[in-house]
Amino acid sequence: MNPFQYSRAQSIDQAIQSIRAADGGNARFIAGGTNLLDLMKMNVEQPGQLIDINYLPLSELHIDNTMLSIGALARMSDVAANTEVARRFPVIAQSLLASASPQLRNMASIGGNMMQRTRCSYFRDTACACNKREPGSGCAALGGDNRRHAILGISPHCIATHPSDLAVALMALSARIKLHGPNSDRTVPIDDFFLVPGSTPNLEHNIQIDELIVAIEVPASPLATRSFYLKVRERASFEFALTSAAVALDIRNGVIAESRIVLGGIATKPWRARDAEVYLAGKPVQESHFVAAAHIALAQAQPGKDNKFKVKLAQRTVVRALTTLAAGEIA
Ligand code: SF4
Repeated sequence: MNPFQYSRAQSIDQAIQSIRAADGGNARFIAGGTNLLDLMKMNVEQPGQLIDINYLPLSELHIDNTMLSIGALARMSDVAANTEVARRFPVIAQSLLASASPQLRNMASIGGNMMQRTRCSYFRDTACACNKREPGSGCAALGGDNRRHAILGISPHCIATHPSDLAVALMALSARIKLHGPNSDRTVPIDDFFLVPGSTPNLEHNIQIDELIVAIEVPASPLATRSFYLKVRERASFEFALTSAAVALDIRNGVIAESRIVLGGIATKPWRARDAEVYLAGKPVQESHFVAAAHIALAQAQPGKDNKFKVKLAQRTVVRALTTLAAGEIA
């Protein structure tokens, strides 16, 4: 691990000022540190300065009739344990409980979860070519073992999957990321916050170096209340998704008024299947329609040599998630 300076921010504005003042933009905010410290130990990240934001007043969680607001420093375990979140936004609680281990959930912050880096093994090995870690160096995964890599949103420069479960759930509920910057605040729809790799896989988020995530807002809705997260993985806990699906249904008189289908574990960002949602609108609640929607959701998949199995597995994940969520109403 490289030597670094450490400071503790006393206010949100001081945190912003500190990162702006850091030499060469080589500073990072640190909260739980569950991802950043790992990467520093592997020399994947080598910040010259860490700005500790753990003491900022950003841990609050508010729920009213219209909105859930989660402070960026709320811990994953605290949000998952909130009974109102579990009742009115179940996909959020379920995705959190499917993430990492209890110990990590106790440490990891919600804002940090949005900023976590891919688990591509070549990204984490500094001996391997990786355009995300070192732009222009190549992508070892393209010709290497790409069993766990993405089949949607890929580019010739990067095929790494997005690692977060929570982000998949938040995408299904049209969450918004609140950012605080040096001159103004702004709110970014979550679908615009995560970037596909294109020719610049090193750019992953719609955030500037001197902006800080302060909260995540989730609109309350019938969709949010009837939502579900299903994660398929190679072991029962402490494992990243091979495939996952965050789904939500608004069912009225046996007909699907509105739906959300978001795929995880198979794409370079949380992947919303809008064509599949359009297909389901106005359809009666029947498994055959869920199967058709799942095929539409994967229609653009581009599997590599080792991950063709993900197409069928993701389709089945979507069907199982939707049938589980609609249980009791399937004609
Ligand atoms: Fe790097 Fe992306 Fe290739 Fe992995 S898939 S080695 S993160 S460029």
